[in-house]
Amino acid sequence: KLTILWLRQDLRLNDNSALQAAIEAGGPILPVYIDDREAMGDWAPTGASLWFLHRALESLEASFKKSGGQLFYLKGDSLAELKALIDSSGAGRVYWNRRYEGPHRERDAAIKKALRDAGIEVKSCNTSLLNEPHTVSTGSGQPYKVYTPYWRNVKERKLEPPVEVDLKTADFYTNKSMGCQLEDLKLLPDHPWHRKLEAYWDVSEESAMKYLDKFLAEPVAAYDTDRDLPRVAGTSRLSPYLHWGLIGPRQVMERLHATHDLREQGPQTYAKEIYWREFAYNVLYHFPHTPDAPLQEKYADFPWEYDKSVLKQWQQGRTGYPIVDAGMRELYETGWMHNRVRMIVSSLLVKHLLQDWRDGARWFWDTLVDADLASNTLGWQWSGGCGADAAPYFRIFNPMTQGKKFDPDGDYVKHWVPELKHIPTKFIHEPWEAPPSVLEQAGCQLGEDYPEPIIDHKKGRERALAAFDKVKAS
Ligand code: FAD
Repeated sequence: KLTILWLRQDLRLNDNSALQAAIEAGGPILPVYIDDREAMGDWAPTGASLWFLHRALESLEASFKKSGGQLFYLKGDSLAELKALIDSSGAGRVYWNRRYEGPHRERDAAIKKALRDAGIEVKSCNTSLLNEPHTVSTGSGQPYKVYTPYWRNVKERKLEPPVEVDLKTADFYTNKSMGCQLEDLKLLPDHPWHRKLEAYWDVSEESAMKYLDKFLAEPVAAYDTDRDLPRVAGTSRLSPYLHWGLIGPRQVMERLHATHDLREQGPQTYAKEIYWREFAYNVLYHFPHTPDAPLQEKYADFPWEYDKSVLKQWQQGRTGYPIVDAGMRELYETGWMHNRVRMIVSSLLVKHLLQDWRDGARWFWDTLVDADLASNTLGWQWSGGCGADAAPYFRIFNPMTQGKKFDPDGDYVKHWVPELKHIPTKFIHEPWEAPPSVLEQAGCQLGEDYPEPIIDHKKGRERALAAFDKVKAS
């Protein structure tokens, strides 16, 4: 019997549970990627993320080829395409790895039923999480809404090792005239803005492993401190690879354990971040509405300001707050932003500028190569003070203090905001405090070369507190 291997966010050959299950089932395997963006509605992948997907598929296609296989591409409604593929190939089985976003879960359940009703053997596996959300709950059977007790629950659980994929015994179905080409999926935008991303990302399963090894060789030891310094390469940058499944968390955790003692601060903190990803999936799974509505319902009618011009200045990195503008420009240029800076820019948008967290989440969704419904939603609701384990509403980041603490020499700002390159370090995070002669010498006239702050920090802070206080009192 032929097995269709339906690939989605699991774009790797190693540690791929559904692929190994298909090999063990025997018979030829037909791996297929179906571009069914409509099924994800408003949260279909887009922008920078689609560029990453294109490159990931290109690389996976080459890997299958090396193993004597062929990756097929189809476009359209997943169930209709799978049925047509079953008819044309004579497949008797369809295997896939599970997804956890609301629209995917509903669709996958419907597909499973329809195929089983049609006499097809269907199998779904876990390959993207260490602990699937339905396996973790509080003592009273409720989902966790706070990270620390979640972490306490899962940290002692036995880790599954990565799945050994026995490619040598795999038999692949090939047919040159079936399906379409990767280019026909039109994942890349018409306007070639994505070309700049090429300089920052080497997209393949092998490079994901290389990045992990490089990170484990040195930076992980100081991760607990360096991960907060945006100008230091102190984090693993694996987020887009984990999102699209070029590497899996089982592989990351196995290598981490093999190379380090997790009682040490750096490695332990890194493991905890891997579990933040798991926690994000846990929240999204149990509260599938959260990409569009706050988990804490009292914030549903928050009086956001919806000012398009303010939103645009933030998107373009022209708020007049150097650390914020550096982050927004890093994002636009590279498709990624440092986590510390993600927290700072989101806080400014939601708190100082009173713009809806969903508008910020949407911009990230379009521009991040690691745009991930679970982590993005958790991150934005954390900043908005309205989600699971959110920052308390009265925590309002001071962009100057944050800048001075985490970019003390201003190197990060100077790199991404070249207008400020010659501003002395003392004023780099608050150029408006510099005497006119200093600004003149630095060749930077505020309001001309670089904007004045979009809002006064103190005023923004007080306005946000007043607005959040009102919701709290109601
Ligand atoms: P590392 O520090 O090397 O961490 C290793 C891995 O752990 C990451 O690759 C990621 O998978 C996971 N991780 C780390 N921090 C978090 C976290 N806070 N929440 C969930 N998982 C985490 N992450 C995304 O992958 N996609 C998003 O769309 C996304 N949007 C965010 C939006 C906001 C407002 C905020 C504050 C955070 C967001 N994050 C998102 C989380 C975090 O910023 C990134 O995962 C991290 O910066 C990726 O860089 P890295 O791979 O070098 O991380």
